[in-house]
Amino acid sequence: MPSTTRTTPRLEFAPMPLHVSQHPLVAHKLAILRDKTTEPKKFRELVRELTWLLGYEAMADLETRPQPIETPLEPMTAASLEPRVGLIPILRAGLGMVDGMLELLPTAEVWHIGLYRDERTLKPVEYYNKLPDAATVQVCLVLDPMLATGGSASATIDILKAWGAARIKQVSLIAAPEGVRTLGDAHPDVDVHVAALDSHLNERGYIVPGLGDAGDRQFGTFAGPASEPGHGPDDETAEVVRRLQRDMER
Ligand code: URA
Repeated sequence: MPSTTRTTPRLEFAPMPLHVSQHPLVAHKLAILRDKTTEPKKFRELVRELTWLLGYEAMADLETRPQPIETPLEPMTAASLEPRVGLIPILRAGLGMVDGMLELLPTAEVWHIGLYRDERTLKPVEYYNKLPDAATVQVCLVLDPMLATGGSASATIDILKAWGAARIKQVSLIAAPEGVRTLGDAHPDVDVHVAALDSHLNERGYIVPGLGDAGDRQFGTFAGPASEPGHGPDDETAEVVRRLQRDMER
């Protein structure tokens, strides 16, 4: 069976609430996003649109408070969103998800946490953190297109919890089972919203079938075959992926 065949999501292993969108528009846009011929401009548009759709689903359980207003016909009690929401894009690929979320939530605060994935160890390395001393929002949405090993997501959520964030949701376009397992083990209270749950990580830590490198594809920085998924895994990287895959057997 070719690796690009759509796999049935195995949700039973997920230690936390995992929501895989079933919306046909999400599936349609994701197909174009995955296609290797999709150019960066179109790719960025699709990331924004998919984020909007996933954000709409992820925020379906937010509370509202009664809001007295007057329509042109009569006074009424309407509803307005109760919690203040913060967006935490994980740099750099998460940046492309901010605009879609801000279209839904124009007053959301945007807090940046810079983590990069060490290409060899696949471990997250923090290089930027401008969070204020205490949490200023009630709901945090962590934005990262690819939930791959789950390392960056877990590290970001560690930081947010230490900051005082009470309610955290992760919004990603594609997840790997290994990343879902890692994140769920570390943070079983965090809801995860994705457009698709893919088959597995390859030996370089890329999601298969995935879409390649979400940062490179958004920003047009594809550097040639050396950065291509599946090209010459480093021993240390391959060992990290094997360990994550062994964890999946538990
Ligand atoms: N990051 C990406 O951009 N793509 C993957 O497949 C995994 C991590």
